Amino acid sequence: MNIIHSVQEMQARADEMRRLGKTTAFVPTMGYLHAGHVSLLRIGKQKGDDLVLSIFVNPAQFGPNEDLSSYPRSLERDLELAEKEGVDAVFVPTDKALYQDGYQTYVELEKLPHHLCGLSRPVFFKGVTTVVTQLFHIVKPHVAIFGEKDFQQLAVIRQMVADLKFDIEIVGGPIIREADGLAMSSRNAYLKDHMRPAALSLSKALENSRQMVQSGISDAREIVEKATEILAAFPAITIDYISICDPVTLDDVALIEGRTLMAIAVALEKIRLIDNTILQP
Ligand code: AMP
Repeated sequence: MNIIHSVQEMQARADEMRRLGKTTAFVPTMGYLHAGHVSLLRIGKQKGDDLVLSIFVNPAQFGPNEDLSSYPRSLERDLELAEKEGVDAVFVPTDKALYQDGYQTYVELEKLPHHLCGLSRPVFFKGVTTVVTQLFHIVKPHVAIFGEKDFQQLAVIRQMVADLKFDIEIVGGPIIREADGLAMSSRNAYLKDHMRPAALSLSKALENSRQMVQSGISDAREIVEKATEILAAFPAITIDYISICDPVTLDDVALIEGRTLMAIAVALEKIRLIDNTILQP
């Protein structure tokens, strides 16, 4: 497995892979790998001859009061896991390699970021689209795999790739959960045992909403009210949003008539947790 820190070296490798006629599949991450990341690597393994993982905690997507400095990191363990999963190359740039002195170029979407997570994290998607654009130009993949756990991020990337004509297939991977239903996340490392029941209320609220829709309820407000009640049972939770919306435009819907996204974000004692599901009548 190649471990590459330099942009030029990564680009040269990408050119060589293309010259050899290999298809490169790419999984960008912020590291502290868990089974959710592994599931994307396994999809990548199926999709390409060459599998590249990147590990980069992107400062541009963190707001000033967010957890950039405390974000969990464990490069050594990540590299072991990557090796075990058959990753061919890991790209681990430094902050300065991607945001060199004098850096001033950002990629920004006009509409999708003004929904859901973008409302409380105003720099987040600008940071994501900027770093993903850079990574696409460095890794030069044919296919890139993103998790549906970050549903809005996947929607934003798909839109950016279409708008800017990136010649890259974007593949979404399903949300991987712990046995008790908690969506896997690197940030789960912050959770203390006593917070577990509160953390589980997100997946419980989503499951309950799915059941309401199955039983014939289609009024979004009624479903959001019940979900709010489930989350509000835990005083340590501050709800950021509970949204029922169109999975492409992310605009709110009042009636669940077709495939609809339900997404939740909360702060649990300052730990940001997000989860989502598709509601289908
Ligand atoms: P992160 O390291 O949190 O930036 O995530 C890197 C990639 O892994 C993103 O495409 C995420 O959507 C994806 N991912 C994170 N958690 C999960 C999960 N529980 N299931 C599936 N994909 C995930």
